[in-house]
Amino acid sequence: MAAETPLLTGFACRDGRESLVFGERADGTMAHISEVTSGLECNCVCPGCGTRLVARKGNKQDHHFGHHGVEDGRPCQAGPETALHKFAKEVLARRLELELPPLVDGAGPGKWVGYPGGTYGFDAALLENRLGEIVPDVIVRKGERHLLVEFLVTHACDEAKIARIVAMDMAAIEIDLSGLPRDTSRPDLEEAILATAPRKWLHNPKLREAQAERERRGGERDLVLARAATPLRRAYVAACAEVRAMRTSCLAYDRIVGRHLAHAVGIEVPGIGCFTVPPRDWQALILADAVDIAASGGKGLITTAGALWKIRQRGWLRRRFSGLTEAEAAAVRVDGTPFDHPANAVATWATTLSRLGILLPAGAGDRWIVWQLTAGQMRGPQTSKRL
Ligand SMILES: [Zn+2]
Repeated sequence: MAAETPLLTGFACRDGRESLVFGERADGTMAHISEVTSGLECNCVCPGCGTRLVARKGNKQDHHFGHHGVEDGRPCQAGPETALHKFAKEVLARRLELELPPLVDGAGPGKWVGYPGGTYGFDAALLENRLGEIVPDVIVRKGERHLLVEFLVTHACDEAKIARIVAMDMAAIEIDLSGLPRDTSRPDLEEAILATAPRKWLHNPKLREAQAERERRGGERDLVLARAATPLRRAYVAACAEVRAMRTSCLAYDRIVGRHLAHAVGIEVPGIGCFTVPPRDWQALILADAVDIAASGGKGLITTAGALWKIRQRGWLRRRFSGLTEAEAAAVRVDGTPFDHPANAVATWATTLSRLGILLPAGAGDRWIVWQLTAGQMRGPQTSKRL
């Protein structure tokens, strides 16, 4: 059972069962577990099945809602997913803005950019509106323009639905909420929905025009290359999905958490499909030793070459993607698939950490040192787990 139900990381509890962190108030709004009184006084029902909820807030680690009269830890199937959908809709309707991914077609100098990506403000959010044969999660409207918003919680938007969206030629995006950490706070969850969670275009009428234009112009070479690279691209997309769905199993991550640096790892960068483990693991592996050295007064140095060596030692590189030519890489990227070589993935991540003030560039884009640690980070993990 647990094997065929993908775990909702954000809402998973022990034994692979999903736990509920949102209840529905009498007025239909969503209440986060952090906002309610313990017990039946939470005055909430399950958004999935309507059963009265009990707020279980005893243990500090695992606050959640239980179904009243039902054994602990066994919410209904629909509860957690329905709850997150309702909350996401509520957030959109209240904030009326959304980060949109870039809309590009092709790669290289001839690349067409329909929208560079960025925050998109809209006038209204229409919830649960039927549109022809489909019911999108949310439709946001700006003037006469409509954008369909789908949330991926446990199931990606299926092909039949995408085909209908394409047939109606509606702009649509999918926001992937499946990888949120279990202890995501309400404000972080809002930010994930509006801006930080991975998102992609399912369809855009402009893209269709651009593609038609490209074919008219006779962009045959691109197309031939793209076709040849289709199996490679599919394999890469599948590899990305695989690592995103993995649970963390790396001890280095515990050390990173102990240093209060959890936000420094698990960063999605182009190239994550080149590894056999989730970004959180290989990033933690690279960072943990350097941070330990910095904490003991040394120079916590990270280099691209050293990082790749460590990753390779553990067998965490997928051979198929570690030596692609530039032409192959470009062909994998041709439909916007965020591919990059492993070394660039490491460098992009380290550069992100430099922007976060965790690392300091110390060379020609291939070496970094750990910034001075705070007192809390110096203290380090309480356990003595080591890789
Ligand atoms: Zn329920």
